[in-house]
Amino acid sequence: MSAVLIVEDEAHLANGLRFNLEAEGYEVDISGDGEAALELLLAERERYDAVVLDVMLPGADGFTVAAKLREAGQFVPVLMLTARGRPEDVLRGFESGADDYLPKPFELTILLARLRGLLRRREWLQGTAKNTSQEEILASELAEAAFVFDGKTIDFAALELRVGEKSVRLTLMEAELMRYLIRHEGRIVARKQILQEVWNLHEDTDTRAIDNFIVRLRKYIEEVPSKPRHLLTVRGIGYRFIAEPTENASDE
Ligand code: CA
Repeated sequence: MSAVLIVEDEAHLANGLRFNLEAEGYEVDISGDGEAALELLLAERERYDAVVLDVMLPGADGFTVAAKLREAGQFVPVLMLTARGRPEDVLRGFESGADDYLPKPFELTILLARLRGLLRRREWLQGTAKNTSQEEILASELAEAAFVFDGKTIDFAALELRVGEKSVRLTLMEAELMRYLIRHEGRIVARKQILQEVWNLHEDTDTRAIDNFIVRLRKYIEEVPSKPRHLLTVRGIGYRFIAEPTENASDE
């Protein structure tokens, strides 16, 4: 049985969610305060399989809670509830370490589907899927377990980037962006294309928000992040990933 923590201060909404999630077989707890939820999730790291996290909360808002969880190395999957029509919230959510989002108000069936997706994705990534056939795993986007380039290893199963002795934990979103860039190795990918195909964002979103993610990935994979050799900027368009750069490759 999967355990879910709902972090939402509107009691009727939280209780309604709990009722429905319990009916689906989940074990559910509610926290109505960002600060308290953070403490709980850091004190009992293995207790929950997923968190439904509202943005608007007393104590600490959802962005802060997600960011502090990730800072503290707590990588429980987070489904963030954002305000409809605010794509900047979505990107801020991803930047703070959320794994998926749902705009409020939402259909319950959609929330359940997203939650299942998040749990399944985590199981796949960790290779612990029980009721998943080998064909499904091979057909899934998560089949490629690791990618090695230029002395670095991205382990998609462990959500980890290893460079020599050093290892960095990646969020699901960072891993998916990395996977997308790797799949398009050597080719230019436009910011808009990344928004649509990695984040499934079709709204008219400020595409520069992608740049913050790239800055973070560069810190992980580049020897000198200000002089990238792998993750190149293509001015006015987007980015290009080069796995094994030649000596004189440089930012374009
Ligand atoms: Ca709220």
